[in-house]
Amino acid sequence: MPHTNEVDLLENQGWDERILVCRNGQLVKTFIVVTDRCVVLVDSLINAKTASRMLDYARPYLAGTRALVVVNTHADYDHAWGNQLFAGPVASHPAPIIGSQRCAEELRSSGSATYLQEMRDREPEIFAGVQLVEPTICFEEGLTIGGGDLTLQLFATPGHTPDHIALYIPEIETLLAADGAELPYPAARAVDGLPAMRASLARMAALQPKVTLYCHAPVTIGPQLLHDNIAYFDALERHCRAALARGVPARPDQDADVIDLVGCRYEDVTPAGPMWEEVHEHYRTQGHAEQLRMMLAWLADAK
Ligand SMILES: [Zn+2]
Repeated sequence: MPHTNEVDLLENQGWDERILVCRNGQLVKTFIVVTDRCVVLVDSLINAKTASRMLDYARPYLAGTRALVVVNTHADYDHAWGNQLFAGPVASHPAPIIGSQRCAEELRSSGSATYLQEMRDREPEIFAGVQLVEPTICFEEGLTIGGGDLTLQLFATPGHTPDHIALYIPEIETLLAADGAELPYPAARAVDGLPAMRASLARMAALQPKVTLYCHAPVTIGPQLLHDNIAYFDALERHCRAALARGVPARPDQDADVIDLVGCRYEDVTPAGPMWEEVHEHYRTQGHAEQLRMMLAWLADAK
């Protein structure tokens, strides 16, 4: 996917006016939460330029005594690669960056450095200037930002990545699920991420939010997506249990057609409708197959 430094502000479509939703092309959405005491940027986008565009949208609200605070929902490049604007040697707008301990570890890891080098080589016009900067205030399970009128409850929601956190704002029953739920599903990247992710989905759904916003789903999709994601993985589990009982191996060969083997196509386990049908082809094929492989392995290991 080609990247862009464009960031636009989406029109409010029914959520609380104190939340601004930013969008970086078709890649990702981020949030600005304006409270009495602080302006909270939820994620810093892909580089300093895009983070700076976000800050432009926040600036009118920073005129008084409100402090600027940045949150990283996780360390993925589309969420935390704009951090250098706020902390570290080249920070031009110093602000605390809050994230999980795991998020900081991830941004310090050699894996992140290698990935950054790859991205710089591929798209220097976007990524050449990126410096990885980790959160400056870290927590394990939960952290609360008291904004006065709004309280931001940050809590660990591992699964998509081990470092992932989500935010709940009880006064307005609004959940910022980040990548904890996605259209059509949040992809687990490792076998042990799968049960963690399902537990995180259950935890978010249990909050019974009235409004839920995601980084990779339409703003109008609502809290129902949490339940659709839960149903997707429940259906995968049912199909995989049945397949294992028929003798399908827990770890099929890499060249095996696991979708066929399990007998569980994408369209069998997702709601009908254009939103679900028009997702990127990867989600219907390889991405779906990967989730099936992880489910088979997890069920076999759990025995
Ligand atoms: Zn993302």
